[in-house]
Amino acid sequence: MVFESLAEKLQNTLGKLKGKGKLTEKDVKEAMREVKLALLEADVNFRVVKNFVNKVKERSIGHEVMESLTPGQQVVKIVNEELTSLMGKEESKINFADNPPTVIMLCGLQGAGKTTLSGKLGNLLKKKGKKPLLVACDIYRPAAIKQLQVVGGQVDIPVFSMGDKQNPVNIAKAALEHGKKNGNDVIIVDTAGRLHIDEGLMDELGNIKNEINPNEILLVVDAMTGQDAVSVAESFNEKLDIDGVVLTKLDGDARGGAALSIRAVTGKPLKFVGMGEKLEDLEPFHPDRMASRILGMGDVLSLIEKAQANIDQKKAMELQNKLRNQDFTFDDFLDQLEQMKNMGPLSQILEMVPGMNSKQLKNLNVDDKELVKIEAIIKSMTKNERNDPSIIDGSRRKRIAKGSGTNIQSVNRLLKQFKETRKMMKQFSGMEKAMKKRGRMN
Ligand code: GDP
Repeated sequence: MVFESLAEKLQNTLGKLKGKGKLTEKDVKEAMREVKLALLEADVNFRVVKNFVNKVKERSIGHEVMESLTPGQQVVKIVNEELTSLMGKEESKINFADNPPTVIMLCGLQGAGKTTLSGKLGNLLKKKGKKPLLVACDIYRPAAIKQLQVVGGQVDIPVFSMGDKQNPVNIAKAALEHGKKNGNDVIIVDTAGRLHIDEGLMDELGNIKNEINPNEILLVVDAMTGQDAVSVAESFNEKLDIDGVVLTKLDGDARGGAALSIRAVTGKPLKFVGMGEKLEDLEPFHPDRMASRILGMGDVLSLIEKAQANIDQKKAMELQNKLRNQDFTFDDFLDQLEQMKNMGPLSQILEMVPGMNSKQLKNLNVDDKELVKIEAIIKSMTKNERNDPSIIDGSRRKRIAKGSGTNIQSVNRLLKQFKETRKMMKQFSGMEKAMKKRGRMN
């Protein structure tokens, strides 16, 4: 699970909101205090947290949310949207050159995962039909060249190197010539890192950049280093004007600070995330999916949107009142069925529910035909029968079964369910009244 501790805290806090039928401003403020703490503990940049929480608060306390039927869920939706926009709204792709080769320069501190990324990125692009070339420009770290050659060998991608006696600027320049001659359409340049940022490193990277004029400068940072990763990104961006960031080691126990702050602080997008040591473990970065993952939401957002688009809020309110007052009729029931049908097949709706796996779905054995049957039965009733099912005697049941193309058993079952639902609502409203009375007495 990515950012486990952050995810757990956010889900806990928002879970409490979701459970409430009505929200007060105080509820939202309290929840936002908890969200703020969770983000700070995850090492998210202080200014970013402040901005984020203010935005969510401002939007959540608005009219639309507080007065909606599902205020808690609306707040969750807002948190999700703001988390997504913090990380960049949509996927940012590599800038490919109009005239190949596309030159991608990787930079970053030592140990961030540049050499590994050369292999991962090469592998990913190769699978998409590109012909990459890896270039060994790290002449300082012992065995760096050898490591790139091993990585290249694993994914069967050629590696250009000139040993460790040449200037990296010359190596990069020669690699470009070599690539062009050999039909490589993507050239991935692995540069040297240092333990800390220093002038010498930055100057060298600046010189390589000027010489090869890359289409894409990707900064590689280690997600485990949190805020440090963010300041590293700021320094590299100032000097090199990078195009994007790759966050590695997201499979470890990174707290989330880097992922959530980098875009806001540097203005540069996250483009990929490293999810493991293997060369297949690279994923394009999708801000929306990352936000959903952090909030443990499955695809509940689409579900909420679907419901918003298909369920008439005014009607839903009326229905709630009818249920309370027990004047819920078969016509209302029919209305409900119509609205549910608009949302799509039941199995598809259930698939969007977080935690619902395919096995559970199979066990549930959902069958849309049942709904069609129920609809047919109700439609075979007269207006009077729909309003007052108690008049439906034996001969009426027979007529309804025949008219709907079902059988007496099905009609009986539906009538029984309807009666039970009404009885349940009566009990509920009795309980509600009793509780209100007790509340007033206290
Ligand atoms: P460089 O100095 O920037 O070239 O870093 P390396 O590519 O040598 O990576 C440093 C270490 O991090 C190596 O042990 C890699 O296997 C490891 N590493 C790189 N990316 C990831 C990742 O996404 N997840 C994990 N768990 N380890 C990674």
